[in-house]
Amino acid sequence: MSDFLTHPDLRFHENGQTSFQGDLLKLFRLLDASFLRIASQFNANEHRFPIFIPAKELQKVHYLSSFPHLATFPVTLDSDAKNLETFSNSEPLSSGGEVKLTKIAPIKDLLTPAACYHFYVHHQGSTLTGPLYLTTRARCFRREAYYAPLERQWSFHMREIVCVGTSDEVQAFLETCRKRVEEFIAGLGLKIEWLIATDPFFNPSKNPKFLMQKLQPNKTEMVFDGKLAIGSVNFHRNYFGEAFAIQKSGQEAYSGCVAFGVERWMAAIIRQFGPGKRTWPGALAKEIL
Ligand code: ATP
Ligand code: ZN
Ligand code: MG
Repeated sequence: MSDFLTHPDLRFHENGQTSFQGDLLKLFRLLDASFLRIASQFNANEHRFPIFIPAKELQKVHYLSSFPHLATFPVTLDSDAKNLETFSNSEPLSSGGEVKLTKIAPIKDLLTPAACYHFYVHHQGSTLTGPLYLTTRARCFRREAYYAPLERQWSFHMREIVCVGTSDEVQAFLETCRKRVEEFIAGLGLKIEWLIATDPFFNPSKNPKFLMQKLQPNKTEMVFDGKLAIGSVNFHRNYFGEAFAIQKSGQEAYSGCVAFGVERWMAAIIRQFGPGKRTWPGALAKEIL
């Protein structure tokens, strides 16, 4: 099937998001349960974070300067009574559905752009006595140049498994976790290649961090069918440890994460095996039925 627009369990919205039910919701739950099973092999501590993350925290790693094109902000009206009155008394919407904002209140937050940032903020200023193994699933928001159902959405779910520790601990974690993911992929029979990638920096040629990633690659993607990155393995070195003052063994901590884009995994399963659970890999179907 060439697109998901006709899938009976899926609805794609104009604003780059999807709703799903039935078999697709089962697939979502089952995939995430599989990622959690991998996380549990590290005894990863599961967290649930808020949707917003403070801009001042993300800017500690220059997020706003590096990825301004991806950011989504929660906006509220200035609470001044006159301002609210002006807003409600004039027609609040244009004919094209655009909200005609009056004065807006200061914006101090972003909608979460990637799940693992929450962990570095959470542990900032701490001294670790042992490596941390963590996991969370976050609804993530990214302004993209275009949207496509499941494959490129304004909001989507990202499951991450994260390690914070020494360089050796983090590298051992990434290696073992990648093996577990490879086994899961092999069990499904999914067509995945592992490819070196770089993060999509704004103005990459002017960004020293992009040039650094070119010289010392630290991101490997699980790529379906030669084009769709359904997940990534990322070694951050001590970048977050330094920015958030996390110490381990007398030094800034190292960190790394394994990220899964849950909707993209759903897209890959449907593209390769078909729209319904009857033709999905036995390993999945068995658990669903
Ligand atoms: P791409 O270059 O394909 O946009 P990315 O490098 O921006 O991917 P990451 O920042 O590594 O992606 O995010 C982790 C995972 O989240 C990706 O591997 C992908 O599976 C998923 N993902 C990223 N952006 C989107 C999106 N807009 N819609 C759905 N899933 C996404
Ligand atoms: Zn991450
Ligand atoms: Mg992207």
